[in-house]
Amino acid sequence: AHEGILRRQSLRESAARTYARSLPIVPVRARGLTIEGADGRRYLDCLSGAGTLALGHNHPVVLEAIKKVLASGAPLHVLDLATPVKDAFTTELFATLPRPLADDARIQFCGPAGTDAVEAALKLVRTATGRTGLLAFTGAYHGMTAGALDASGGAADVRVTRLPYPQNYRCPFGAGGERGAELAARWTENLLDDPKGGVPAPAGMILEPVQGEGGVIPAPDGWLRRMREITASRSIPLIADEVQTGVGRTGAFWAVEHSGIVPDVMVLSKAIGGSLPLAVIVYRADLDVWQPGAHAGTFRGNQLAMAAGAATLSFVRENRLAERAATLGARMLGQLQGLAAAHRCIGDVRGRGLMIGVELVNPDSDDTQADVPPADPALAAAVQRECLRRGLIVELGGRHSGVVRLLPPLTLTDEQAQAVLDRFADSLEAAVS
Ligand code: PMP
Repeated sequence: AHEGILRRQSLRESAARTYARSLPIVPVRARGLTIEGADGRRYLDCLSGAGTLALGHNHPVVLEAIKKVLASGAPLHVLDLATPVKDAFTTELFATLPRPLADDARIQFCGPAGTDAVEAALKLVRTATGRTGLLAFTGAYHGMTAGALDASGGAADVRVTRLPYPQNYRCPFGAGGERGAELAARWTENLLDDPKGGVPAPAGMILEPVQGEGGVIPAPDGWLRRMREITASRSIPLIADEVQTGVGRTGAFWAVEHSGIVPDVMVLSKAIGGSLPLAVIVYRADLDVWQPGAHAGTFRGNQLAMAAGAATLSFVRENRLAERAATLGARMLGQLQGLAAAHRCIGDVRGRGLMIGVELVNPDSDDTQADVPPADPALAAAVQRECLRRGLIVELGGRHSGVVRLLPPLTLTDEQAQAVLDRFADSLEAAVS
């Protein structure tokens, strides 16, 4: 079955498929961290549905919540009507939101994907401000629909001003750390205030508190506070894309809480649906200038996703899984830094909570221009293959595809974390030898 399914799907589906090309597995069962393939092999899943599975696969509280809706006879499809299931979800979500946003926020169900919520956020700030331009960042990823693509790193169809996202490793200013972040902030300020800078008043600024697809780059808290000041003092709505960083992943329930900033709009998806598709934006009530019918869509009321999501949010909150992600993530980072000390091909180890990246480089490159060696995407791909051979699923990312990313569930045990790190170390060893 395994080979047949792989062959048929690779013939039927577009070559644009992403994960299936590097992960030739046929999952048939899963629980927690573990996926079992049709060939009977078991894998430790550190991709977790691209960061969706805060509680891992098929967590009992998620399954129970779904079964309860199914057994209740409630309609599964209700467009965006009010239901007890939706009521419970929004109550739970609002209980987690950072204050003061939580005190006076509106929610808009978008959907069903993260990219839909990004579109809604861009449309909202454009409607509210009457402006169109957008401030976005180098290395950003916001999705694959037109507006979200504009906001992501790369060419844009609408007027987007691309600002430098601070990074310690490969800092474009050659400074790194807080200093590099401050220089990035000043660049932004100068550009906005330069009358000949070509940046007319924008509709908003969109950023990820930790860039995920861009290669796991955590923004320094000080820089995020500067972005909040810069936007607030110029009446520019700030959109935090927490699609990947939300629900405890980075060691706080929402990643913006580390810096204490309160965005005007938050874009939420992935883990908020407890493994089913769900996406919302939450925003300051005074931005709610939309007229009735201004933003619609058929699939914005997935009852099973709301039930699974509410169960996930409350489990993460009650079991303090964000704190757990912070301590376990720090320990894993420490061990990976130890590994880096023994391997010149590890250029950088970084992350926040259980959002971890290992940047692989070619230390013997004769590219002497850069202050750090170039990324090594071929090595990263080899490490990913070796990991899969050892039953470990990891994803790659980064602007140069040289970053191995770990996004394990927040329910990871100490023993599982050790197994992941051991398999990763063995795979690296095999890939370089
Ligand atoms: N924003 C961020 C920060 C993301 O990481 C992603 C998905 N990786 C998206 C938006 C888009 O979400 P989706 O793939 O569900 O459209």
